[in-house]
Amino acid sequence: MLAAATILGSGGFVPTGRRETSSLLLRGAGTGATPVVVDAGTGLRRLVTDRERWLGDARRLDILLSHFHIDHVCGLAYLTELADVEVVIHGPGAALYETPTAEILARMFFSPPLMPVTLDVLGVRVEELAPGEVRAGGLDVRARRQDHHPNPTLGFRIGDELAWCTDTEADPGTAAFARGARVLAHDAWGPPAAPGHSTPEEAGALARDAGAERLVLIHVPPRADEDDLRARAATAHDHVTVARDELDLLAL
Ligand SMILES: [Zn+2]
Repeated sequence: MLAAATILGSGGFVPTGRRETSSLLLRGAGTGATPVVVDAGTGLRRLVTDRERWLGDARRLDILLSHFHIDHVCGLAYLTELADVEVVIHGPGAALYETPTAEILARMFFSPPLMPVTLDVLGVRVEELAPGEVRAGGLDVRARRQDHHPNPTLGFRIGDELAWCTDTEADPGTAAFARGARVLAHDAWGPPAAPGHSTPEEAGALARDAGAERLVLIHVPPRADEDDLRARAATAHDHVTVARDELDLLAL
């Protein structure tokens, strides 16, 4: 049972003073529930800079990665500041790119001269993540392969509370995947339309087709006109929120 779903980073690709890049913090019910993070963009820095607020006294953290584009993983470098937390990174390297996740991460950051420490030295464990049921934080999480991005990505669904679908073009399969979830958080890296991403109008249509009560536009462009984004999505859906950092999606 999901107790909180807080956006740590609502922006796409370029962080701004208002929006860090992609990251979502999930908490199950119960004081001992392990926090789960979906994507590790610059928003992950909040777990360092506001640790008590977001992690409390948690000593374990599971991180699920939708893909490895830099705006979704750059925050993994900040794990050096959480050395006393047992971290498990779940990545789709093998499932989506036929390359072990640990190898991709080592190439990206965790090897000299990029970083002075390896994942082993940090004590971070890496597990493969594949479409289907995901075991993390005692939550009911399902992952779905999204093929409409320059490299495929994973969309996530958490129970009937939330579907989180970023870095994908409008994909009719998303509506079926999200159907029955109260909130659809969907990529809106446009206008203008960009390969691998969706416009707010398309996100609105998918939320309508999925029957979602609420649409939240995520992966927002750095120079977005929020009123314009909302208005465009509202052509297809009545309850649109432009995501902002620290928003609890369950409170909508
Ligand atoms: Zn992205």
